[in-house]
Amino acid sequence: MTDQATDPTPAPAEPSSEAPALQLRDVSSGYERTTVLRGIDLTVPQGSVTALLGANGAGKSTMLKTVSGLLKAQTGQIFFEGVDVTKASAARRVKQGLCHIPEGRGVFRNLTVRENLVMQASRGGEASAIAQATEVFPSLGRRLGNKASTLSGGEQQMLALARAYVQKPRLILVDEVSLGLAPRLVDQIFEFLHELSQRGVSLLIVDQFVTKALGMADKAYVLRQGQIVYDGSPDELLAGDIFSYYLGTDEGSAPPVA
Ligand code: ATP
Repeated sequence: MTDQATDPTPAPAEPSSEAPALQLRDVSSGYERTTVLRGIDLTVPQGSVTALLGANGAGKSTMLKTVSGLLKAQTGQIFFEGVDVTKASAARRVKQGLCHIPEGRGVFRNLTVRENLVMQASRGGEASAIAQATEVFPSLGRRLGNKASTLSGGEQQMLALARAYVQKPRLILVDEVSLGLAPRLVDQIFEFLHELSQRGVSLLIVDQFVTKALGMADKAYVLRQGQIVYDGSPDELLAGDIFSYYLGTDEGSAPPVA
């Protein structure tokens, strides 16, 4: 993580509890000369769960990377709790309470479970971080001295979630957290995400388990080829033909972008 003294981005303004957790206004983003996302308007209300769906390559991971600051927005503005973070570094956004769990398990494989947790804790808060993490995921408590690389896929994903949890974030971006996991573990992970949302943490979730993601979401977006083609209620999306949105044959099958 970038040290505050070397972080060139300006100190954030005060967050507002009345503002949405996250707001994107007309954001474009991509890689070097490629623009992937175009004209994105998206809002995650405070304390809500928002599902972001779309086919492979639609731009979901690019969106989460842009929100967390791993990619810079090419145009447009990003607000976190009312504060314009468009130009803030990824480290600054983490300090403000934004956490990104990237696809492919955000853990340090060569470090132990304990080390993975301790590095996310505040100074002096190491023991309490380990206690909190092992309370929510008891199986991690039995593996504290083991390298993360020796954990099963499910345990690594729990460790990634626990690392996020001990930072006490207010907004978590979750990218394909259930990828490749057994159904029992997927259920456990969704239960944990649900608990987090009950505690007031806002979530923006990308997941292949569309019905699970929509089942816990308050609102949903569908991305197609870098643009939002659905913005509305998860129930209406479930009742319609979701995949027609993915494929671009959606006319008349569900409500349009609000
Ligand atoms: P998936 O479900 O397959 O992960 P996604 O909706 O998350 O798909 P992205 O990973 O955001 O989609 O990819 C969107 C587009 O950006 C794709 O065309 C992809 O090839 C391209 N892309 C992704 N990463 C890079 C990169 N590092 N450099 C250049 N192009 C990239």
